Amino acid sequence: MTIYRHGTEDPRFPQPQSPTPTQCQLTPQLFDFEYGDCNRKMAELARARRACSRCPLAADCLLWALVNKDLTPVGIIAGTTPRQRTQLRDRLAARLGPDWIDVLAHQNRADRPGTGMQERAA
Ligand code: SF4
Repeated sequence: MTIYRHGTEDPRFPQPQSPTPTQCQLTPQLFDFEYGDCNRKMAELARARRACSRCPLAADCLLWALVNKDLTPVGIIAGTTPRQRTQLRDRLAARLGPDWIDVLAHQNRADRPGTGMQERAA
């Protein structure tokens, strides 16, 4: 298992970037959310989730948020609350094992064209 310093991004899963501002950059207050944020209106939560559902970065954003747990303890990210991300991490660990991040990094490398790993896997 690879250990990275607390609070630093896993370089195998960099935060996705967009050439145009994403909705969470344009209206960050909409994406504020913490554990037990019961006062948060459901309508606002739904607006943030809708924005994420239309975002072209959503899949990579979710992966980044799941892997980089220390960087994503709060907020709506890729349509998920902090609690949902914890549940998703638990499911990944149950399915892929405690080194699930390394497993995903290996799969990512294998899926990338030009690495030769697809040919070896075939
Ligand atoms: S999917 Fe990620 S990058 Fe896109 S709006 Fe949602 S939080 Fe922002």
